[in-house]
Amino acid sequence: MRKGICILGATGSIGVSTLDVVARHSHLYKVIALTANTNITDLYEQCLAHHPEVVVVVNEAKAAEFKELLKNSPVADIQVLSGAAALEHVATLYNVDSVMAAIVGAAGLLPSLAAAKAGKTILLANKEALVMSGAIFMDAVEKSGAQLLPIDSEHNAIFQCMPAAYTSGAKAKGVRRILLTASGGPFRQLPIEKMVDVTPAQAVAHPNWDMGRKISVDSATMMNKGLEMIEACLLFDMKPEQIQIVIHPQSVIHSMVDYVDGTVLAQMGNPDMRIPIAYSLAWPERFDSGVAPLNIFDVARMDFEEPDLQRFPCLRLAYEAINAGGIMPTVLNAANEIAVESFLNEQLRFTDIAVIIERTMAQFTATAADSLSFILDADAQARVVANQQISDLSH
Ligand code: NAD
Ligand code: MG
Repeated sequence: MRKGICILGATGSIGVSTLDVVARHSHLYKVIALTANTNITDLYEQCLAHHPEVVVVVNEAKAAEFKELLKNSPVADIQVLSGAAALEHVATLYNVDSVMAAIVGAAGLLPSLAAAKAGKTILLANKEALVMSGAIFMDAVEKSGAQLLPIDSEHNAIFQCMPAAYTSGAKAKGVRRILLTASGGPFRQLPIEKMVDVTPAQAVAHPNWDMGRKISVDSATMMNKGLEMIEACLLFDMKPEQIQIVIHPQSVIHSMVDYVDGTVLAQMGNPDMRIPIAYSLAWPERFDSGVAPLNIFDVARMDFEEPDLQRFPCLRLAYEAINAGGIMPTVLNAANEIAVESFLNEQLRFTDIAVIIERTMAQFTATAADSLSFILDADAQARVVANQQISDLSH
């Protein structure tokens, strides 16, 4: 029996890599559902190649356009749904076994959570959903017996280095620390006074990874590593002080696990997201990802440095958010999403991303995040406050 897969965010960088891996193993996986926000051109090509049963185009006008596109096409039988609620519907279909959660940002929370509640195997790329919902997400996974497999390359590496039969959310026996690696992004060595003039084009040009625009900016500010530190605390039941962030510019080691006996296990490979994707699709076995073997002689050397919190204030803010607890990671994430979008629209300077997040966080207290409605409220309020801070800054 082939497993059914739903890919949330199919037209994005992770979505495309997932379809590439799935196509190599079509005897094992059947594509049931694909979703996109607005990019119907790419979605149409994906429909021709993978013939899903149903697609979601969140944007209503684009969905109507897409229905026209499908008429008289070889894939006219595909059902087309629209609106955000349809994402939850396709993520919980009876014939979907695995859900690739690859929508960017908070928009991915509800469908990912729905998949968790429905007991699906969740391949989690959408770290923002986990950071903003924290224990609520992990509890939903535990209650339903869902399988949670991390796609973020670092967390996938950590998962691979965990003891045999480890499951996400559990405390790992014998593990002392996690060494979370980071490339340091494109501005690791830029003179600090030049950071203020960084343009969106420079920020999205990552030295080692080819990714969506939002996560590329997060990598440049290192908020990505801050979100990943919080993600690691949740996925592996660790305290922030048990996670050491390590700048490793070559991106060959994707993270390490330090055991009480002094053993350190690392996972290595070429920087290509098809590796963690293939690992999670084949788990607990392995299959081909399409990635070339690592040439260790090309790597030649590996460097490791401590992160500079002055250069990367977003890292400090992420530690402050998790240490404060409650809704603060939700607020951090929401303010970051607003600030990054504003930076990408050339309405905010690069160095003001952290300023906006810090000022937004200062307007909140760390009340408990013990229900989904509290979290959604905190997310909405933080967006309002962050937008206000942005307009105050420009006046
Ligand atoms: P991307 O921008 O390339 O793709 C985003 C996808 O989400 C697209 O399919 C888009 O249609 C969809 N989407 C955007 N807004 C939406 C909305 N409001 N409602 C519904 N769908 C929406 O992003 P990406 O780089 O593929 O990243 C996806 C997620 O994976 C992010 O959370 C990111 O942090 C995580 N991730 C990505 C990488 C990578 O290498 N790209 C690595 C690790 C983790
Ligand atoms: Mg990562």
